[in-house]
Amino acid sequence: MEGVIAANLAAVRQRIEASARAASRAPDSVTLVAVSKTHPAASVRAALAAGHRTFGENRVQEALVKYPQLRDEFPGLALHLIGPLQTNKVRDAVANFDVIETVDRPRLAQALADEMERTGRRPPCLIEVNTGEEPQKAGVMPAEADRFIDECRTRFGLPVIGLMCVPPLDEEPAPHFALLREIARRHGLEILSMGMSADFEKAIRFGATHVRVGTAIFGARGGPQADT
Ligand SMILES: *Cc1c(COP(=O)(O)O)cnc(C)c1O
Repeated sequence: MEGVIAANLAAVRQRIEASARAASRAPDSVTLVAVSKTHPAASVRAALAAGHRTFGENRVQEALVKYPQLRDEFPGLALHLIGPLQTNKVRDAVANFDVIETVDRPRLAQALADEMERTGRRPPCLIEVNTGEEPQKAGVMPAEADRFIDECRTRFGLPVIGLMCVPPLDEEPAPHFALLREIARRHGLEILSMGMSADFEKAIRFGATHVRVGTAIFGARGGPQADT
């Protein structure tokens, strides 16, 4: 497994570099967030052994089980929260994640601001935008994004550094990437987290600074969480 993960990582890194160059961008302008959800700590360890340091998890509880020991061993490890955050998990999220990518509603923004004030720990935040306006999906609706972004920065004082989106599964992602880039531009935000295993090269063409790649690195996910 270790060899496979190292080889997958190298292949994904190479594709990222090629896409960045093709878009006349510096290869190091794109950060690979290796999404380890549902995969065991041993898989994360294999990626760490191959030199990788930035990871993504979509559930606070799962990250709490998997990551504390790895963090002790690898001080450079950076962990991104990429899944929906419940307000009752805010304390654990602020304590255990280095970037929170899924801020999407005022109640959550308020809870994050309160916890950051209480602890002094201020992990950078991304606002998740529901670019496909899918009712079941997390993220602020595009029509409300401008106001929410302003509110997060001014009223709540959150350290907002960029935007994140997960386009609808069954749609061409390009217009969604373009929309996210446009909203970010309006707000002078430089970080764009977009693109997954199936479409990260296209996301890089549209300006992604962070691509979130799971399957292409760690293999298919099994079990009940497979599609979350
Ligand atoms: C699972 C997940 C990914 C990674 O998806 P792959 O298709 O396995 O690369 C990226 N972003 C989010 C928000 C996810 O939940």
